[in-house]
Amino acid sequence: MRSVIIPAKEMGVHEECGIVGVQSTKKKPLAREVYFALFALQHRGQESAGIAVSYDGNKVAYYKNMGLVSEVFSEEELALLPDTKAAIGHVRYSTTGSSNVINAQPVVFYGRYGRMALAHNGNIVNSTAIRDEMIKHGHIFQSSTDSEVIAALINEYSTESVEQGIHEACKRFVGAFALVILTGDKIIAVRDKYGLKPLVMGEKDGDVLFASESCALDAIDARVIRDVNPGEIITVESGGKLTSSRYADPSMKPCIFEYVYLARSDSTIDDVSVYDSRYECGRMLAELYKIDADIVSGVPDSAVVAARGYAEASGLPYVDALSKNRYIGRTFIQPEQSQRESSVKIKLNAFRSNIKGKRLILIDDSIVRGTTSKKIISLLRASGATEVHMIVASPVVKFPCYFGVDMETKEQLIGGYRNEDEICKIIGADSLHYIPLELLKKACGGKDYCTGCFNADYAETVESVVKGDKTANE
Ligand code: SF4
Repeated sequence: MRSVIIPAKEMGVHEECGIVGVQSTKKKPLAREVYFALFALQHRGQESAGIAVSYDGNKVAYYKNMGLVSEVFSEEELALLPDTKAAIGHVRYSTTGSSNVINAQPVVFYGRYGRMALAHNGNIVNSTAIRDEMIKHGHIFQSSTDSEVIAALINEYSTESVEQGIHEACKRFVGAFALVILTGDKIIAVRDKYGLKPLVMGEKDGDVLFASESCALDAIDARVIRDVNPGEIITVESGGKLTSSRYADPSMKPCIFEYVYLARSDSTIDDVSVYDSRYECGRMLAELYKIDADIVSGVPDSAVVAARGYAEASGLPYVDALSKNRYIGRTFIQPEQSQRESSVKIKLNAFRSNIKGKRLILIDDSIVRGTTSKKIISLLRASGATEVHMIVASPVVKFPCYFGVDMETKEQLIGGYRNEDEICKIIGADSLHYIPLELLKKACGGKDYCTGCFNADYAETVESVVKGDKTANE
């Protein structure tokens, strides 16, 4: 078995965060429920993890630290968090704000209504403008995250109630936000008006739960009720009463990259199965690109499903070509980016006996920087593959994302400055094909999606995004 070392930072793109909230009518050890749900969302963020629980009316106990969920929380830390009727949790991958514990979430603060906690997934594009404006008026901030800006503005506007503050503040935010907020014994869940970030509501033994993905609800045997609607604010009181309202009319345009790469294959988002969308992409690619080859394989983990779809539709055998060591561990948590890149390695191994002497079709979910593809193809050739044809289950990534996915500048993206022939040569493939955007959208249920990173058709207009125009949402 041959292997290649790839810096963690180069392994695909990264989501910013995963969030969880649970509201019960009875006091119980909800921190444990949140722990297991966060564990299922670990793929959405591996830099820090945290849990906050309410107690004694409007007090909040919390613990957060750098590391994976299993590293941050042992029995000892979980025991610090009292039984409660309401708890929230968070896993983080930083794209705004540096990677240190002060930026870990939930954000816990004293507000007009006592102690509160907030967990956020997404990116508020105009957070700097709002922060500067608030600082001018005497506000102080502890961290560099947009999530603290969200908390501060909600508090600023909560003159009559927290719910009113959330309504008013959300109208000011430009960008992506899925939130769970803990106030008193209440949980409030919010999804931005485009539904850019996923947020699903579930139920277990009368408790109401919220999570970034349905796989987190499955992990704790909860039943999915429905997705939180774009622009919706759902309040769950300690007695279980549930109220829904809107801060804005929905303008549904969720992130299509969730289906391509970010979400787990066993999740369903906005009634579309991630697994089915990936499998269908593979089937469509087989119809579109008929290549004279011996075997098909997928880059683990997210491209394996599309590769199986391709194999089924093409009649070619699916084989395992690559094995990925998923364990990253604490070495990932280094304060400096350069330290991370040099010290953190993920090992990809090739199954030499499966590919030796074979013409291989390799399916990947996306090509972002191109560095990973190049190393993988070189590994496959060195392990005996006679041809490597790369087929990508997403279109060329040409444009940055402003909404919390880690591809923020065009220079980071090989598709931003190279055409397909050039990319093929650079990564060393015998041929290179991408799925057309219309087919990807069709595989994802044919809805209107944010596809900004492929064609600059963003959920927000690029002008307002780039300027961080604070009035764009008003
Ligand atoms: S630009 Fe791409 S990654 Fe960013 S939200 Fe839109 S579809 Fe998702």
